[in-house]
Amino acid sequence: MIPASFDYVAPGSIEEALAALAEHSSAGDDVKIIAGGQSLLPVLRMRLNAPEWVVDLGRIESLRGVRDDGDAIVIGAMTPHSVVAADPLVAQHAALVARATATVADEQVRHRGTFGGALAHADPAGDLGAPARALGAEFVIAGTGGTRTVGAEDFFQGLFETAITEDEILTEVRIPKHTGWGAHYEKFVRVAHQWPIVAVGASVRIEGGAIAGAAVGLTNMGSTPLRARAVEHALLGQRPSQDVVRTAAARAVEGVEPPSDLNGDADYRRHLVTVLTRRAVLAAIADAGA
Ligand SMILES: Cc1cc2nc3c(=O)[nH]c(=O)nc-3n(C[C@H](O)[C@H](O)[C@H](O)COP(=O)(O)OP(=O)(O)OC[C@H]3O[C@@H](n4cnc5c(N)ncnc54)[C@H](O)[C@@H]3O)c2cc1C
Repeated sequence: MIPASFDYVAPGSIEEALAALAEHSSAGDDVKIIAGGQSLLPVLRMRLNAPEWVVDLGRIESLRGVRDDGDAIVIGAMTPHSVVAADPLVAQHAALVARATATVADEQVRHRGTFGGALAHADPAGDLGAPARALGAEFVIAGTGGTRTVGAEDFFQGLFETAITEDEILTEVRIPKHTGWGAHYEKFVRVAHQWPIVAVGASVRIEGGAIAGAAVGLTNMGSTPLRARAVEHALLGQRPSQDVVRTAAARAVEGVEPPSDLNGDADYRRHLVTVLTRRAVLAAIADAGA
């Protein structure tokens, strides 16, 4: 299908983009930001949304790229998935993000789709929310009144719903460095190059033969990405073994509210998440060199 007609603007700076959002939303128009268009365009083509104005962030160079910022790495919202997946800083300090991003869709989608666009879209089956939650990412959101930072636990507010308001822009995401942590993203799909039925991201740090740090995030086990804190607590301080990991992984069901759909019912997902958590944690431990 062809989208309903809309007016289009492609500002060259964040300030101009914010001004365009403020101008059109205060005039009562329905305004939508477009980043890579990989989620928005299908929505427009199916006429599930018909904005009067579309503000394209594609010309704003300052929204692209990955930089080192001391104890965190910072990923610009308009950085394409293909760049994030191949970036050496991401690989070194946030390996879980690199691993999860490499599983998103196919090469074409990864070339156009953006890190910030995927997180702002907040699809519970999206692959980037669980790593963001597990690693304690912070979301930098700009508005005409200034910039604010929102933690991952508050950023995802519901199904396709985030803390970004309609006149704001997600500009960058700060990810605390997890240097030296092993990582693995275990994704269970019905068909290749698609969103998971369930997925689990795990990152661990081994010190003196014991698990000194654990970060585990769950995809598609609720209306938002979840952090599996019960699993993390069960792992901390333990010497890695099959039994320790199996016992900890069984706790991945705590606090989840998985959907039931054509790909699997909620009970199936509850079983799946324990299996995938065990696999993800074991692989992350192996990746950490233990
Ligand atoms: C065939 C196919 C397969 C896919 N498979 C997967 C998959 O396996 N795993 C996965 O995670 N994803 C998958 N995706 C989605 C893909 O990751 C998209 O890149 C992503 O969901 C949206 O990113 P985008 O840059 O294209 O955003 P857009 O589609 O341009 O925007 C998405 C939404 O976010 C808003 N938005 C975008 N950027 C900002 C910003 N900076 N500030 C505020 N709001 C913003 C837009 O207004 C819109 O509502 C798939 C997509 C396709 C087409």
